[in-house]
Amino acid sequence: APEAKPAVTGTGADEVTNAVEIVRPLGTFYKYVIIGGGTAAFHALKAIKQTDPQADVLVIGAEPLPPYSRPQLSKEMWGSKQRKALKFDNWAGDETSVFYKDASAYAVVHADPTAAPEGDHLVFKTPADRRKPLLLLKHRATALDVDKAQVTLDSGRVIQYGKVLLATGGTPRRLAATIDLPDHLRPHVTTFRTLEDFQRLDALTDTRKHVVIVGGGLLGSELACALTAKFKAVGRDGGHVTQVCRSEDGVLADVLPTYLVRWTTDQLRDYGVEVLKRKDVVSITEAATFKEGSAPQLAIEFKDGAVVEADHLVQAVGIEPNVELARAAGLEIDPVHGGIVVNAELEARRNVFVAGDAASYYDMLLGRRREEHYDHAAQTGHLAGKNMCGETSPYVYQPAFWSDLGPKISFDSVGKVDPKLPTASVWAQDSPIGPTEGEAVAAGTASAPTTTTTTMAQTTAAATQSGPTRYEHGLVYYLDNNKIVGMVTWNLPGRVELARQVVLRGEFQYKHIQGLTRMFNIHRL
Ligand code: FAD
Repeated sequence: APEAKPAVTGTGADEVTNAVEIVRPLGTFYKYVIIGGGTAAFHALKAIKQTDPQADVLVIGAEPLPPYSRPQLSKEMWGSKQRKALKFDNWAGDETSVFYKDASAYAVVHADPTAAPEGDHLVFKTPADRRKPLLLLKHRATALDVDKAQVTLDSGRVIQYGKVLLATGGTPRRLAATIDLPDHLRPHVTTFRTLEDFQRLDALTDTRKHVVIVGGGLLGSELACALTAKFKAVGRDGGHVTQVCRSEDGVLADVLPTYLVRWTTDQLRDYGVEVLKRKDVVSITEAATFKEGSAPQLAIEFKDGAVVEADHLVQAVGIEPNVELARAAGLEIDPVHGGIVVNAELEARRNVFVAGDAASYYDMLLGRRREEHYDHAAQTGHLAGKNMCGETSPYVYQPAFWSDLGPKISFDSVGKVDPKLPTASVWAQDSPIGPTEGEAVAAGTASAPTTTTTTMAQTTAAATQSGPTRYEHGLVYYLDNNKIVGMVTWNLPGRVELARQVVLRGEFQYKHIQGLTRMFNIHRL
């Protein structure tokens, strides 16, 4: 094994070369330091390497793995025959790894946690490895000093930077009822964010048959469908999933208008997910049915007194952006959206950039926002990387997100999709509907919407009177002060770019919907 040299005098000094390996101390200065090893970090790294290929870049990531893509962990990976190899078939049917790049694309820093900070060292297999980005895994940045331009690692080592990027993402929230859980129940109550979480849940659902997912959002709904599909594939006794929502209307109530929330909830039920609405977990204990020697059954009690027993509970109740490092460094934290406040160029202070889920940024079209989406993480990571290299471009992009719920629902969304805003929807006529939603629901020909746009409250009232039958292909427009600020394209592949252009123009109104809809060609898939 190569020996680390104890004295650290700077990057590139004190190299030890033998036949196959070059050993170098980790060094104390990097032109670019990236904190976080996720999607935003990877895209920033790529942009920096494209713009400044000779520069030394250090990525500090708390997870044990090189950067990977998370969205597939609640979607394609569950149906993948190659999931043990962490591969899935992408939309084009090509086998794809969840890792953006194989570990060999990086020079992985070997850090000995038992050694002094100087125990961190680099091992290069070939001289060419020296130009690879350096990846320090299983390490956290524990302090940031903006005035001294330095980052402290959990090993104690202090690193000076030229520019630093905070791409620290978020940490899953936990239910209050899980805080004082007895030790033996803890493994049966988990969150879901990492590749390791996926592997654990996949392995335990080989034997544990009733999973409760708490959370009616995108993650909870996707996981509920994915696990239901896994259980179905096993056969009748495969197992089943209960999804617990807070909303009285059902799943995705934070994204979709009420009538579509109800319809989507019915679709999930038809697919086999048991959806419980308007439920708040108050306690999790061991069920009385527990038999000695067997794994414990959970008794999950709700505020209304109902109790559900299950083998496992997954909390999918959102994330908290990781801002502690920034807060302690004196950076501004957004009290409304959470996240670290940056300007339109994604800079928090001089030479300190933020990207991805952790950033509260200024969208010049729609105002201050924080987004927790892949596309946003990739785009802000890329832009932050470019700006760290000297560009000064603002973030003018409108990020999109997508979701797949079972075999029948796949939608994209772009801009501000807040169901508290008035919405107007247009559905293809091959999706028979009851146009009674209280919002503007029009058959998707060139005909005008049948009702006017209304508020959420009116929508709810109207939707209780009679329900639609089918929503297969259509568009939902979100309006703010009569301007289109967001769109959902529902089972309409390939339309999201067009939707992005509509939102980005920032000038289309309710009266334009009929004409805009023609461009989307919602009858032709
Ligand atoms: P992350 O990917 O979370 O990366 C942050 C990394 O920083 C983590 O590895 C963390 O451990 C590390 N870190 C934190 N603090 C420190 C520190 N102090 N020192 C070192 N390292 C640190 N989005 C969509 O748009 N569509 C989807 O369909 C979709 N599906 C998803 C499915 C799942 C299962 C999950 C979990 C997310 C999904 N998302 C989806 C959201 C999307 O994956 C995130 O928005 C994206 O990963 C955010 O990227 P990020 O780089 O900001 O944060």
